[in-house]
Amino acid sequence: MIKGASGVRRVPVLIVGGGPVGLALAAELGWRGVACELVEQGDGTITTPKMNEVNTRTMEFCRRWGIAETVRDCPFPADHSLDVVFVTSLAGHELARMRRPTRAQQKADSFSPERLQICSQLWFDPILQAFARAQTRVALRYRTRLESFEQRGDAVTAELHDLETGRRETIAADYLVGCDGANSSIRETLGIALQGQGTLGHPLHLYFRAPDLLARCGREPGVFFLAIDRHGLWANIRVIDPANGLWRLMVLDTDGKQTPDTIDRTALLQRAVGRPIDVEWKGLSIWTRKSVVAACYCQGRVFLAGDAVHQLSPTGALGMNTGIGDAVDLGWKLAAVLQGWGGGSLLASYDSERRPVGLRNVRMATAFHLAHGAFSGDMAAIEDISEAGEALRRRIGEGLSKNVGRMFRTAGLQLGYRYEASPICVSDDAPPPDDPEIYIASPQPGSRAPHAWLADGRSILDLFGRNFVLLKFGQAETTALQQAAAACDLPLTVTSLDEPEAAAIYERRLVLVRPDGHVAWRGDSLPADASALLDRVRGAI
Ligand SMILES: Cc1cc2nc3c(=O)[nH]c(=O)nc-3n(C[C@H](O)[C@H](O)[C@H](O)COP(=O)(O)OP(=O)(O)OC[C@H]3O[C@@H](n4cnc5c(N)ncnc54)[C@H](O)[C@@H]3O)c2cc1C
Repeated sequence: MIKGASGVRRVPVLIVGGGPVGLALAAELGWRGVACELVEQGDGTITTPKMNEVNTRTMEFCRRWGIAETVRDCPFPADHSLDVVFVTSLAGHELARMRRPTRAQQKADSFSPERLQICSQLWFDPILQAFARAQTRVALRYRTRLESFEQRGDAVTAELHDLETGRRETIAADYLVGCDGANSSIRETLGIALQGQGTLGHPLHLYFRAPDLLARCGREPGVFFLAIDRHGLWANIRVIDPANGLWRLMVLDTDGKQTPDTIDRTALLQRAVGRPIDVEWKGLSIWTRKSVVAACYCQGRVFLAGDAVHQLSPTGALGMNTGIGDAVDLGWKLAAVLQGWGGGSLLASYDSERRPVGLRNVRMATAFHLAHGAFSGDMAAIEDISEAGEALRRRIGEGLSKNVGRMFRTAGLQLGYRYEASPICVSDDAPPPDDPEIYIASPQPGSRAPHAWLADGRSILDLFGRNFVLLKFGQAETTALQQAAAACDLPLTVTSLDEPEAAAIYERRLVLVRPDGHVAWRGDSLPADASALLDRVRGAI
């Protein structure tokens, strides 16, 4: 860190917010050798864990950072059932069960070297934090709050408040990134509006410890239970930390007027479990379910990422995962500009690429949530021990698995997003349909470069990350691109592959993959002007 003539300390990137998105950005920048400082007003303790599902794409980023194994080794047991179960209550009737193999039973998917991992925020944030801290150029400062900031010429000046000592400090940064969550004061200061459907409801979380809960209810194991009774689909019950018997009951909606004092926890738990039960209460939170995206993701030298710019229903487990995608996209671009090879419009492409993904994911998460509402009709007989009751349960169970169950079948949603209208990708054919359930491997520019196993046992994805990579399948001349890269200091690796399976997936002899693992351009031979191609993909035109 350097001090300017004014005596003000200067950092290349100041990140505000030490949730998973801020930590991921700090880690990504540090991993790329870019110095940054992260300030977080809290002390890093997670009292009310929200996130549980680290999706396949985020696991691929973790793989690149070298921490995927640590995430997989988190305390969630590999042999724990991952079944999703629809019940009238935990001790009541089972309407349907979506059987899913345990982590230990899972076979590799054809489309990724990684798989979605259950890893509560209780464990995931500390893993990210330790990884970010291990990067020599990253400084993490907890109990430090951003009070205000101002953009001036070539810097952003920020007022920081050390909440432990009371000390205030002015710091200058080349770039400021607000990963400061749903109530982002940075977004507010910039006057950037949130757009969309707005508030969808006021869910309630009850955290409790109840070892052997399922055994006490006579229920076969599972990971996520959705409760539907005569009043409709009203709650879900999720195991968070099986070894310690930690559970979460989420009541899908309240009237918005409740306070922690007016909530009857015992009655709600009894309704979910189907009988009175003693538990150790750990916490309670009422939150707002939203469907909004910020009107833009940046202004001048200030960028926003994560919940600061998209707030969505947790149905589909997309909140943090979308934010980590923001961090990775912004991370390589900031690094490129700070290292001198990124062009003048590279950073603006952050908004062009990530905002459409935010809109897509918010739309899909909202659709998953709205599917719950279809199960609120006449359920009077749903708990009856009668033929009519059984027939109703069978019918509703089928409908729930088909419709509400879609939020657990999201391979396309996790991996199929692409930067279609990106100014820094050179698009060619029309992309395949964007189906949330089905992932169709697409090597078209803008898409995540598809996975293929290589003869040496690596995934082709393991080649991407640090540099631009020009994949070369067969004979093709690449010298002009290498010379153009050297001329603008763009880090480029040319990798020749004699891999028929990968060649078939990638369809062209030459494929240029960006540091974030997205395809930038492809062709059977280089274009006449290789410099113009590189200027396009590094945001220099
Ligand atoms: C019930 C539930 C389940 C969920 N499950 C999943 C899931 O399975 N998968 C998934 O991907 N997502 C899930 N999510 C969403 C996920 O939890 C959020 O999207 C994610 O936590 C957002 O991360 P963030 O870093 O953007 O923001 P946050 O986690 O909100 O972090 C923002 C941080 O900024 C700090 N901050 C704010 N202002 C300042 C300031 N002025 N100075 C310093 N620090 C500041 C705050 O203290 C906070 O720590 C779930 C959400 C809920 C509610």
